[in-house]
Amino acid sequence: MHTLYWFTRDLRLHDNAALLAASKSDVLLCVYVVDPRWFAPGPLQSRAMGTHRWRFLWQSLMGLERSLRALGQRLHIAYGEPETVLPKLAHEHRVARIIRSRQPGIQEAGQWQRLKEQLPNTLFQQFETLSLFTEGSLPRALSELPDTFSQFRKQVEKTRERCSERLRIRTLTSLPPPPGFPEDNRGDCPAIADPQHPLPFRGGEEMGLAQLKQFLFVDHGIAQYKETRNELDTWDASSKFSPWLANGCLSAREVADSITEYERTETRNESTYWLWFELLWREYYYWYALKHGANLFRRDGVQRKKRQATFYGHRFMAWCQGNTEYPLVNAAMNQLRETGYMSNRARQLVASCFVNELELDWRYGAAWFEQQLIDYDVASNYGNWQYLAGVGADPRGLRQFDLDKQMRQFDPVGEFIKRWHGNSKQPVGLHTIDAADWPL
Ligand SMILES: Cc1cc2nc3c(=O)[nH]c(=O)nc-3n(C[C@H](O)[C@H](O)[C@H](O)COP(=O)(O)OP(=O)(O)OC[C@H]3O[C@@H](n4cnc5c(N)ncnc54)[C@H](O)[C@@H]3O)c2cc1C
Repeated sequence: MHTLYWFTRDLRLHDNAALLAASKSDVLLCVYVVDPRWFAPGPLQSRAMGTHRWRFLWQSLMGLERSLRALGQRLHIAYGEPETVLPKLAHEHRVARIIRSRQPGIQEAGQWQRLKEQLPNTLFQQFETLSLFTEGSLPRALSELPDTFSQFRKQVEKTRERCSERLRIRTLTSLPPPPGFPEDNRGDCPAIADPQHPLPFRGGEEMGLAQLKQFLFVDHGIAQYKETRNELDTWDASSKFSPWLANGCLSAREVADSITEYERTETRNESTYWLWFELLWREYYYWYALKHGANLFRRDGVQRKKRQATFYGHRFMAWCQGNTEYPLVNAAMNQLRETGYMSNRARQLVASCFVNELELDWRYGAAWFEQQLIDYDVASNYGNWQYLAGVGADPRGLRQFDLDKQMRQFDPVGEFIKRWHGNSKQPVGLHTIDAADWPL
């Protein structure tokens, strides 16, 4: 059988159930599609793919290509829309089956559906490789996913060992050969700007697995993670796994199993539990996105809760450019623009400021994050934004952080604000224009 494997957010050979299924073919065409629409401005002011994320993704693709070549395979990188590129390749190479990893997000689901319609005689298969669980191994049906994270955690928590050990798959060591390999048009992809990242993030499976080993077994950062995870700007205060997890360079099951291994061989404490607990947040949002579909992107959220919000261009720009009246927010937003990363605590603060102080429609903030974050993940991003905006999975409703208090607690001597230039010389106030857009 001739199979086309469509790599998406699963850029790895380890623990990849979808690729394992594809490996049972006579001929295998491995494809990654770079969609030009990612680089064009979207309806919410931002582009889907910013420069930092694109660089990380490209590094990950190059790493994947090296791994595939070592097994006699190749990676076809196509620049074009999947609905055009994939049917053409499928016809050219007499493809009988297309496989990919299952993904949350309505655009992703829509593309899969349109491909099926275009290729009615082709077999389409999806496998769950992004999550800890499969849909079938969840304690309840997806339609019964709890409305809050705590309920979900209580349901699944006891199954940690079971889910990851049972579902994890070994690294692939052989693959069927590629077809006579077609020229790809990767040269048409946008250029990579500024190839050196200011933080030690480098895309690819090898780097993701190295970071897993480093944080757990070399630095033992996991052993005090619960105390350090809220720090704003220390490299080993949190795991930094997110960019590799988001691109699938690292499998969540691999991380879960490594935590278990660490607890077995090194130490088991509240911190080691907490890293698993955070992985469960990611897991919850994965299923939340699949369950709620288009409601993930609604202004009134999955709760359909009407909230007063509008779009003030000057407030939005000030927030994006780190030029508000709030130095801590500015510093975090500058860090995001310059590096493509921001700590979890800072994400909560800037999102709270966006919704509460600046009174903006949360979806514009989420779209800016989508453009900037190297760890952008549709489910975690939109799920967390809904939560902060009080229209998602938070049973307590809208949360507002006291920014002065947070500054005293997390940046008492102003080190973070200084490093990321949070003290704007001419901050943009809330009321620099009146209701009729007339500059004051
Ligand atoms: C407004 C907002 C938007 C966010 N957008 C994203 C996003 O696009 N992509 C993304 O991966 N994370 C997102 N997060 C979650 C979280 O901030 C990042 O996962 C975390 O900061 C990444 O750093 P780390 O890997 O060092 O995390 P660690 O603290 O070391 O956590 C380990 C892993 O657990 C998962 N995790 C931790 N916290 C969360 C959380 N709140 N929600 C979901 N998963 C979590 C991540 O996979 C992370 O890598 C967002 C949070 C907020 C408040």
